[in-house]
Amino acid sequence: MLRRSRSYEESVFLSPMSIHDQSKKSGLDMLRDPRYNKGTGFTREEREKYGLMGLLPDMVSTLEMQIQRIEGHIKSLPTDIEKYVYFSDLQERNESLFYRILMGNPEAYMPVVYTPTVGLACQTFGRIYRRPKGLFISARHRGKIADVLCNWPEEDVRWICVTDGERILGLGDLGAQGMGIPIGKLALYTACAGVPPQMTLPVVLDIGTNNEELLKDPFYIGLRERRLVGEEYESFIEEFVTAVEHIFPKCSIQWEDFANPNSGPILERYRNRISSFNDDIQGTAAVGVAGILAALRMKGESLAEQTFLFFGAGSAGTGIADLLCRVMQKDGIPLEEARKKCWLVDSKGLVVASREDLTETKRPFAHDAEPVGTLANAALFTKATALIGTSTIPKSFSFEVIEQMASNTDRPIIFPFSNPTSKSECSAEEAYTWTNGRAIFASGSPFQPVVLDGVTYYPGQGNNVYIFPGLCLAVYATMATTIPDQAFAVAARALAAMVSDEQFARGLIYPPMSNICAAAAVVANAVATFFFDEGLARVERPENIPAFLDGCAWKPEY
Ligand code: NAD
Repeated sequence: MLRRSRSYEESVFLSPMSIHDQSKKSGLDMLRDPRYNKGTGFTREEREKYGLMGLLPDMVSTLEMQIQRIEGHIKSLPTDIEKYVYFSDLQERNESLFYRILMGNPEAYMPVVYTPTVGLACQTFGRIYRRPKGLFISARHRGKIADVLCNWPEEDVRWICVTDGERILGLGDLGAQGMGIPIGKLALYTACAGVPPQMTLPVVLDIGTNNEELLKDPFYIGLRERRLVGEEYESFIEEFVTAVEHIFPKCSIQWEDFANPNSGPILERYRNRISSFNDDIQGTAAVGVAGILAALRMKGESLAEQTFLFFGAGSAGTGIADLLCRVMQKDGIPLEEARKKCWLVDSKGLVVASREDLTETKRPFAHDAEPVGTLANAALFTKATALIGTSTIPKSFSFEVIEQMASNTDRPIIFPFSNPTSKSECSAEEAYTWTNGRAIFASGSPFQPVVLDGVTYYPGQGNNVYIFPGLCLAVYATMATTIPDQAFAVAARALAAMVSDEQFARGLIYPPMSNICAAAAVVANAVATFFFDEGLARVERPENIPAFLDGCAWKPEY
């Protein structure tokens, strides 16, 4: 039987249930429910009230003591994947403690719960799998997807992050094991911006895998069939979206790590029907553009003076190029002129007008020129001042390429954005060394600071996490009807504007990861303001938008 959801009038915001609403749960139920469990943090009064006496040792811990204990344990674990598994267990055991630890030191722990460790976690998901933390909707569930959604215990889901597992990071088709990505992403919605965790739902659409190794792996957790394609695939996605609209009518969707031939069409098909976005295209675009805008603030140059060379012309590369052109257009550069400043290189070489193998997304950037084969020659021919890598080809920013960039301009912008670290087009050390410290560098996966001739260079990380948590809080709080591309441009400008001169002096073009919650608040404020200004919000405009957003945000407290 399908569940009926509350209407907007009945409740715009359901405040997260407090522990006191849980009088019907048994003590043991509470200990086993990560949302209510405080472990030894339950006070003596709570232990008596909720039937917990005897179920816990005598000690009563403060949250701070628990944090110390857990952090001590995490430090003792030898590998990142063991730390990932430990965090995953903690999230299933005590949500508040999990988020307090993550928010307390995002710089140290985000790389463990998300990129780069999550890549390995997905590759080994079948082996480290413990308890389900989302919905696995498989091709077997065709015709019954609404029933599957009803099995989720929460009635008011506001954000679904969904993947079909076909292009997980730069690792390719990991099928149902891609589930690690929506789980990690949604954890960051909460950790960075305070999107209430009970209102988020990770989903993997398990429509099979074409990964031969996984199909043969006895521990593979997904459907052991080849992927649905064509009409069957499209009708599966259509059934999923229809079911979400019906079961969770206030829910927005983040499309995540779909393969290039599907990501763009799915986004375009549904973005005006249900509030939704694709982080690989739009989130990446925003963080890429923010990095470029901040780098230009650092150089004291304008967009009009630049030439951009994109290595890798898939979702991420063309997404950044498109948004960049939109921003240039807003700054008064005609669209055609803006596009002429952007050159793409794909696996066949420079994207030029004479090529007949180009997709619709590459066409706008195909200019009249002779074909050029290598990236170094493309850098020479275009005289690019900025090089953005989204190719998944490790080490493709060779000495020759970077040397060419350094002769094109005094301070070349070098962004190897491919993830995880093993796919990065170059390392921070290579970029700084080969340009004698002149590169303005940011990568997809983190690199350690580099010391060169006694000077320390701090590499930026162009991580989408600077954008999506704040944007998703803004959508949740305003109940925005749609998420136009302009919202991502607004987010990018807000992020670029918050980088301080002191941070520029250290070479940073993004705020340090330790400031990620402050960055999310700035982005949320800018995007929510945009939604109100554009009439896209479904709640009344508050007098004080930052205070309103803060009031909507979930806090990990006992
Ligand atoms: P995609 O599959 O859509 O695109 C990859 C592109 O690389 C394709 O166009 C492909 O033709 C091109 N390519 C493959 N081999 C090449 C070669 N030899 N030379 C030139 N180009 C080649 O994937 P995507 O979503 O665009 O993601 C690409 C990479 O960017 C991934 O590693 C992903 O993790 C990374 N990414 C980083 C961020 C970030 O740092 N913020 C965000 C999104 C994606």
